[in-house]
Amino acid sequence: MNCKYSKQKLNKKVECKKLHKIIGYNDCANCSLKEYKVHNKVQTIVQKSNKLTKLERNRESLFTNDMEHCIICGKSPVNKHEIFGGRNRINSIKYKLVIPLCVCNHHNQIKCKGIHFDKKLRDEWQKKGQVIFEETYPDLKFVDIFKKNYL
Ligand SMILES: [Zn+2]
Ligand SMILES: [Zn+2]
Repeated sequence: MNCKYSKQKLNKKVECKKLHKIIGYNDCANCSLKEYKVHNKVQTIVQKSNKLTKLERNRESLFTNDMEHCIICGKSPVNKHEIFGGRNRINSIKYKLVIPLCVCNHHNQIKCKGIHFDKKLRDEWQKKGQVIFEETYPDLKFVDIFKKNYL
C-alpha cells in the first residue's frame, strides 16, 4: 500500500483518498490510479541529523563553542568528554563541564591514550572545571553538588 492516496486501516482495508472510500488491499494494489509516495530519503536524513545535532548540542561546554575540535590540540574528530565522570557525569553535562577531545590523542579509548588514562591531565581539567564552574555559577556551591573539592 504505497500509493500516496492510501491510508492503511485495520482488517486489510485501505482508505483511498482519491476515490474517497474504503477499499480492500487487493483493490488498492491493482488500482490504476495508484501513485507512489515519493519517499524523500534526503529529507529523512536531514531530519535525523538535525535531531542528532540538537542532542549533541545539548552537551555544551563552558570552555569553548567549538565542539568539533580538540580543545587541547585542535584535531578532529573528537569525543565529548565529561570532565567529572561517574556519578558526576550528569552534573558535568548539566553545568556544561564538557570538553571536546580528539579521539587520536586526548580521548583515545582504543589505544588507551588520553584523559581517561592520564591522571595528570584529568586532574588539570578537573581543577579548571571547578574554577570555571565557580566563576560561572557564583550562587552555587561546587562542593555541594560534586561532593568533592578538586582545588
Ligand atoms: Zn571521556
Ligand atoms: Zn587532541
